[in-house]
Amino acid sequence: MSVSPRAAPGAATHGTKATADGWRAAMRGILAPADLIEDQDAATPFCVDWFGRYAGRARAVALPRNTDQVASVVKACADHQVPIVPQGGNTGVCGGAVPSAGGDALLLNLSRMNRVREIDAVSDVIVVEAGCILADVQQAAAAAGRLFPLSLSTEGSCQIGGNLSTNAGGTAVARYGTARELTLGVEVVLPDGRIWDGLRRTRKDSSGYDLATAFVGAEGTLGIVTAASLRLFPPIRESALAWVGFDHPQQALALLAALRDRFGTRVSAFELLSRSLVTLIGRHLPDAPAPLKPAPAWAALVELGDTWHSGGLMDALETALADAADHGLLSDAVLAQTGAQADALWRIRHAATDAMKGAGVTLTHDVAVPLSRVPVCIERTGAMLAERYPTAVATVVSHLGDGNIHHNVTFSPGDWAAMPDAGAARDAISDAVLEIAVELGGTFVAEHGIGQRYLHAAARFKSPLAQELARRLKSAFDPHGLLNPGRLIVPE
Ligand SMILES: Cc1cc2nc3c(=O)[nH]c(=O)nc-3n(C[C@H](O)[C@H](O)[C@H](O)COP(=O)(O)OP(=O)(O)OC[C@H]3O[C@@H](n4cnc5c(N)ncnc54)[C@H](O)[C@@H]3O)c2cc1C
Repeated sequence: MSVSPRAAPGAATHGTKATADGWRAAMRGILAPADLIEDQDAATPFCVDWFGRYAGRARAVALPRNTDQVASVVKACADHQVPIVPQGGNTGVCGGAVPSAGGDALLLNLSRMNRVREIDAVSDVIVVEAGCILADVQQAAAAAGRLFPLSLSTEGSCQIGGNLSTNAGGTAVARYGTARELTLGVEVVLPDGRIWDGLRRTRKDSSGYDLATAFVGAEGTLGIVTAASLRLFPPIRESALAWVGFDHPQQALALLAALRDRFGTRVSAFELLSRSLVTLIGRHLPDAPAPLKPAPAWAALVELGDTWHSGGLMDALETALADAADHGLLSDAVLAQTGAQADALWRIRHAATDAMKGAGVTLTHDVAVPLSRVPVCIERTGAMLAERYPTAVATVVSHLGDGNIHHNVTFSPGDWAAMPDAGAARDAISDAVLEIAVELGGTFVAEHGIGQRYLHAAARFKSPLAQELARRLKSAFDPHGLLNPGRLIVPE
């Protein structure tokens, strides 16, 4: 692996007027007018993230329709040293898909590359283009009698390219793994415009480095993902869902262990929510009845899923919960008796982020710790936030099955406006939350990626050697630092 002396990784290069004109002419030669947005007003919606936290400018927005067009666009940018910010559904929460304020980058949006290229139900493989919306991939798999299990609240908007590039997680990781574990291979346009067809379709391959893995979680800093071959699974033919109450997260952890002992991988989701969050959601969804009254201190949405329909899964879950109650592992529980009731419970879970968004200024976090340390992480973080920010509402939602905890802190708009230095407050809160997780042997970001937001955390929590290796990898793929500069890589 060689390190180029020509440009620091992550450094954007600004072109001259002549370069800009040449680049623009090249772009107009590659893309039809409808696929190249040059008007700044029309480009603006692409340049703001979902939360409205990050906003920037782009010199243009390209919407290519196939891999060859992506390759030509990237080659033109390489020739003219124009940085590129790749974008999928723009639901990322760390500012990775939003250009910087300087406006020198091209925003490369993959949403028009949305074909399902191939489904091989026998091999359990689906090959899709990067701009396919996650829910459409799930539906395509279902239509072929298979399951694509990646599932996030944003599945109606986020795209496969973004899912892979952030190594997305969501609600089914405990059973099926993250986007990385669901990826067999990728097709990528490299920073010089060459196309690498790495669409492996086999589970096994010991022929050297697994290059595809490098692009998963790379946040568009190494190449543009244009397609992916993904793993499929047998569909779930019977499921059972319960809303379970606890006095303490330790009970929830004990119940999870008991259910896993009894049902193995059939425990497909275990989503833990604090009462403070359920209360916020209740205000956001006034038509949704509270699953348990009075609301317990903690609640979990617990789902079992079986590929075999025996007709007895709900009874089995009910029996398991009754046994758990006898052993003091829960305070209360209600089972969904119909599909509509199950949908209503999932609706509550999926409304969490919107509820926080509507409640004021929310700072979200995305840590993970070893499962055994989840309760202490929740307890320590909650105590720290209550002591330092008594007027804020601290909420928790955890994909408990994989140790991922979202600690959220919501300030009323008035309280937030009264902060003497909001930026410093944001950093101080974030540092304190992340520090606890890292001290407990966890990670400062579990499923959202680093983007712009966690660069300072990466500088603090990644070892100098890990930072150096990441820079060397970046240099090997992208020596001129043109792909998503200023994201993910900690500068030297
Ligand atoms: C309400 C809400 C709930 C969420 N819940 C979850 C959750 O449960 N689990 C979870 O993991 N995430 C969650 N997220 C975060 C987000 O939905 C995921 O990170 C998702 O995977 C991003 O996909 P996207 O298509 O929107 O990517 P974008 O936001 O467009 O991009 C994300 C990153 O990937 C890069 N990128 C995008 N496409 C490509 C490509 N084709 N090639 C190279 N790089 C590319 C971008 O440059 C950027 O760095 C949530 C977000 C919101 C707003």
